Amino acid sequence: MTHCDPDWLDEGLVHLWRPYTQMKTAPRPLPTRATRGSRIVLADGRELVDGIASWWTAVHGYNHPALLDAAARQLSQMPHVMLGGLVHEQACRLAARLAAIAPGDLDYVFFSESGSVAVEVAMKMAVQYWRNLTGETRARFACFRGGYHGDTFATMSVCDPEEGMHALFADALPVQHVADLPTDEAAAARLETLLAAHDDIAAVIVEPLVQGAGGMRMHDAATLRRLRALCDAAGVLLIFDEIFTGFGRTGAMFAAEKAGVAPDVMTLGKALTGGVAPLAATVASRRVFEAFYDDDPGKALMHGPTYTGHALGCAVANASLDLFEREPRLAQVEALEKALRAALGPLAASPAVADVRVLGAVGAVETARPFDVEALRAWFIERGVFIRPLGQAIYLAPAYTIGAEDLAALARAVADAVERLE
Ligand code: PLP
Repeated sequence: MTHCDPDWLDEGLVHLWRPYTQMKTAPRPLPTRATRGSRIVLADGRELVDGIASWWTAVHGYNHPALLDAAARQLSQMPHVMLGGLVHEQACRLAARLAAIAPGDLDYVFFSESGSVAVEVAMKMAVQYWRNLTGETRARFACFRGGYHGDTFATMSVCDPEEGMHALFADALPVQHVADLPTDEAAAARLETLLAAHDDIAAVIVEPLVQGAGGMRMHDAATLRRLRALCDAAGVLLIFDEIFTGFGRTGAMFAAEKAGVAPDVMTLGKALTGGVAPLAATVASRRVFEAFYDDDPGKALMHGPTYTGHALGCAVANASLDLFEREPRLAQVEALEKALRAALGPLAASPAVADVRVLGAVGAVETARPFDVEALRAWFIERGVFIRPLGQAIYLAPAYTIGAEDLAALARAVADAVERLE
């Protein structure tokens, strides 16, 4: 314990099992005291400029008063009631609003409390869709190298099996069909062959336009158009996992909208509540919903998490959608894209850099060689910024409301990191 550590820290750290963390060797996490705007205030009073908005959630910045007011109002009125046999205003309003803004005829919204579960629900929907419609067992999925869809068993199985975080579990997971994204005609032809060769595929799942946790790898709209055409030709469902890309991150409300391609099922999470409460959603098209809509109770979607449609989460998500309507969020993302291009683009000339990628409010610098990720994270913190590289990608995915000065501090830190790696 140092002189300024809070009194809850030492004992808590013995018991708090932290995410993706080797508890024996990992550096101590930084105790925090507060958040505001794009900054995290540490217990010792230091402030860090946050480059990644708490795992990409806090898109309006931290502590936006409209979100906090909505949360306080909902908590004082009714924190939550279960959706089995009951319903409440915030879930109804949010479902209708998401249906109205989601692309195509994605009109039917199932709520859960984490992105992984939203993807699980999408996968269950796809399997049960075929069961309900034709009686077939189609229990497998086609997924892509570089993909990440969550940490539960089913979602781990559709992550990249080699480079992903879950190789350790490979033997324990259902085996899926792993393909390359159809970024060109040759890859499209390979995927076409794969889809034609297997009649056990319920759906293809993809992170549209940006594979986030896999290292901010980007592809174009044509890739998604090819994918849509291949799924239609093979008659399989297409799931867009927009848990990272949803709510403006790529420059449009959804990557599907930006690309002009509508999936059959879309998953949402993270920025849905602007980072204030855990909530996720699986949004299905009419085609999918109709396979469940029947006089036969056995065709109902067999899923029901305790906290589905959590009233606090839904209230904050409604307030977040209000902010997208009331404040110029997408224009801010457009400005952020320009600023990120201007700041990170020139780094492509460095021998330490293999690639620079920018889309909407995401900017990534891929290094030419691996580096000591922990050491770089610590170095960023010393410089007053919170940036956590993924593999060889040093990336920024800040709040859309970040001010010019804080953005400049992040960009400077990335540029200095690149210089250090030269
Ligand atoms: N899908 C994508 C594309 C994600 O980026 C993530 C999380 O990073 C998930 C699913 C899992 O979401 P959660 O961590 O909320 O379970």
